Amino acid sequence: MNFDVENIRKDFPILSKKINNKPLIYFDNAATSQTPTSVINSISNYYNNYNANIHRGVHSLSEEATQDFESARTKIKEHFNAGDTKEIIFTSGTTHSINIVANGYTDILKSGDEIIVSGLEHHSNIVPWQMMTKKNNAKLKVIPLKENGELDLKVFENLISDKTKLVFINHVSNALGVINPIKKIIEIAHKNGAVVLVDGAQSSAHFDIDLQKLDVDFFTASAHKLCGPTGIGFLYGKKELLDLIPPYMGGGEMISEVTFEKTTYADLPHKFEAGTPNISGAIAFGYALDYLNNIGLDNIKKYEDYLLDYATNKLKQIDGMIIYGDTPNKTSVISFNIDGLHAYDIGSILDKFGIAVRTGQHCAQPIMDYFKISGTVRASFSFINTIEEIDELIKAITFAKQMLS
Ligand code: PLP
Repeated sequence: MNFDVENIRKDFPILSKKINNKPLIYFDNAATSQTPTSVINSISNYYNNYNANIHRGVHSLSEEATQDFESARTKIKEHFNAGDTKEIIFTSGTTHSINIVANGYTDILKSGDEIIVSGLEHHSNIVPWQMMTKKNNAKLKVIPLKENGELDLKVFENLISDKTKLVFINHVSNALGVINPIKKIIEIAHKNGAVVLVDGAQSSAHFDIDLQKLDVDFFTASAHKLCGPTGIGFLYGKKELLDLIPPYMGGGEMISEVTFEKTTYADLPHKFEAGTPNISGAIAFGYALDYLNNIGLDNIKKYEDYLLDYATNKLKQIDGMIIYGDTPNKTSVISFNIDGLHAYDIGSILDKFGIAVRTGQHCAQPIMDYFKISGTVRASFSFINTIEEIDELIKAITFAKQMLS
């Protein structure tokens, strides 16, 4: 495989760290990706050289900060091929973005309206909608899973009707790594007059996404899963829909005029950006996209698929191995249990080998309930990982199995 992973790894200072006297092997990329030097430096450069509040100052520092903040917005627009920078709202991340949309539809939806969620969602794409339906009495329906972790689209086609106003679904499941057929789901939803929100928290780091081609109505991602910092992400929405929904938070920056009688809101995107934003985070997010584009998402996808195939084949050779979401239609995540062993115990032993994996429900309890399990071990890969690290994982799991059996 022609991918210069050793050179790429030099860009990530954390990879020289030792954990329990062993070199760090980081397989928790789905929770948070690691950060390259160029992104880390962009944050210290901001604070060292042009830390100032944006949009409102006439002084040079403020102008420079505003310029870089807005240029990060343009980078996001271009990277994801949105139609207009006005359609890119900076948020604190995917959870915040979904809450903006759920709050926005609270007064638009009425009792009798229906919304559809997939059975594969992270809690952050379930709970805000439940909070919304408590207020407006809309009915929440669920697309069920199949045994291989894919969604049952036949059932989806039966669930949807002209009563359906919203469909919300993740692009890739964080718990299983399964890629959902969002293009098809968007087409079916649009035929029925429904609006679709796609949670791209897990897809955006792994392959190219073209928002206009997908014709998706709302899309969201978090920078910290894309080699960027925590506490920053974005919400994309089609302009006419963002114009339709009211803002979630009131305050400075998001207004046009304020009197004690009434307030008029600023134009997009500022209408949804009340208060001082995470300025250095947004700028660093732009640098993270530059970094990924330099390697190329097509190259990243090919290499990560290669790692995923290699790891899946090796893991399947371990006696008692159960992989959830065992479909070719997936990316970068293996969620597993070993018959008779507890996921938490396996994760704790792997940590002694310096190997970081996640154990538990992965904020997706309905998926665990479907498989009738309390949790899984999740190894999630990225382009910074190597075949040798996967070999170490297999050795450590084999050791854990012997120790715990
Ligand atoms: N949606 C999915 C699919 C996720 O994997 C996550 C985080 O793991 C989120 C939403 C929430 O993202 P954030 O915590 O950045 O808001």
